[in-house]
Amino acid sequence: AKAAGRNVMAFFDPEMQVRLQARARLETDLRQALPNDELRLHYQPQVDERGAVVGVEALLRWQHPVRGLVSPDEFIPLAEENQLIVPIGHWVLEAACRQLAAWAADPARAVMSLSVNVSPRQFREPDFVKRVLEILEATGAPASRLKLEVTESLLLEARDEARSRILELREWGVRFALDDFGTGYSSLAYLKRLPLDQLKIDQSFVRDLLEDEASEAIVASTIALAQSLQLEVVAEGVETVAQRDWLLAHGCRILQGYLFGRPVPVEALELDG
Ligand code: C2E
Ligand code: CA
Ligand code: CA
Ligand code: CA
Repeated sequence: AKAAGRNVMAFFDPEMQVRLQARARLETDLRQALPNDELRLHYQPQVDERGAVVGVEALLRWQHPVRGLVSPDEFIPLAEENQLIVPIGHWVLEAACRQLAAWAADPARAVMSLSVNVSPRQFREPDFVKRVLEILEATGAPASRLKLEVTESLLLEARDEARSRILELREWGVRFALDDFGTGYSSLAYLKRLPLDQLKIDQSFVRDLLEDEASEAIVASTIALAQSLQLEVVAEGVETVAQRDWLLAHGCRILQGYLFGRPVPVEALELDG
């Protein structure tokens, strides 16, 4: 009876009420974000061992009329819950591919790849493959320079479906990265079955490098695993020279993080290292 009483109290908790209202307001605003043209892409470089930019990741931003720049960690989960992620993800792909087409026309950028985050829900849409191919065609972006970042959660359900979609897009040259590796439900069996090109070591492990032996062990074995599966490996969240040096010494050759550049609008992106 006591527990039930607490639950009733919790239900009428005024703080929770405020949080729910704020969330509902955010959701209403998010519905307007696309028609009001409030979404932006920022770009963050990925560099090789010499510091040359080999790729760029597109990261979504929401320029809210009152709240200013809202982080994707705040609105992507919300968008995932109410299907808005589908039109938003579509917008992201199109904007990113338009940028990729512009870079592709510039010989100095000829080898650069562009990574785009795809949410599980977006990936599972029945016409996802068709959409991607349409966008590539409409924008003229080269498929072979597009990399789609998916997460482990996608591997949990509908594995055969995921596999066949990845295979289909790969036939056109699109590549795939497994994002946030090590934070989810990684099963090495999935990894073996999925036709991926790249593993991204999650920033939580990179952050604790040189401070925590467990993180060092996890990162070192992820790099070794990637190498033995012939996957490219990228470390994200690299902020210090010590982290960079450790990663390079352990065989990770592509690095991403504030040490090399924060995500910025395209005009501010420095691609010449
Ligand atoms: P993510 O894909 O793991 O992206 C990396 C996040 O780490 C980005 O946060 C980036 O700004 C941040 N970051 C990069 N370097 C450093 C560093 O050196 N130190 C630290 N502390 N952080 C660093 P951001 O841009 O806030 O994005 C957060 C998450 O939102 C992304 O995590 C991704 O899961 C999601 N997201 C972003 N854009 C999109 C999108 O277009 N579509 C979907 N579905 N999700 C997106
Ligand atoms: Ca990512
Ligand atoms: Ca990540
Ligand atoms: Ca993340």
